[in-house]
Amino acid sequence: MNVIVADDSMLTRKIVMKYLEPLGFSPFPAANGGEVIEMLNTGKVMPDLILMDWNMPVLDGYQVLQLLKKDDRYRGIPVIMLTSESDEANRAKALAAGARGYINKPFTANDLTTAIQAYLK
Ligand SMILES: [Mg+2]
Repeated sequence: MNVIVADDSMLTRKIVMKYLEPLGFSPFPAANGGEVIEMLNTGKVMPDLILMDWNMPVLDGYQVLQLLKKDDRYRGIPVIMLTSESDEANRAKALAAGARGYINKPFTANDLTTAIQAYLK
């Protein structure tokens, strides 16, 4: 399963990728929202899942989510938001915009696995 890991923190990308690899996922890193759109539009990767930070430069995670949900090609890709924005308003906003789920930072490998399994059911 291909997973785009979008976060402007290199450390977070590395940690998430380290968590995903032993689970058999193939992670593809993106450093900002613009890179996510570029990866999709160039066909570099067709992901089965996108794990996406909220706060990123170029396009933030919420903006990318909105673009994906407006696009017939990408609407079906499940998106799980990874973010330190823990308030209910943003959680509700992401879910209303079509996010499959929401994981608050900081998270453990176990939190990530549990959430992915739950949200992909
Ligand atoms: Mg960020």
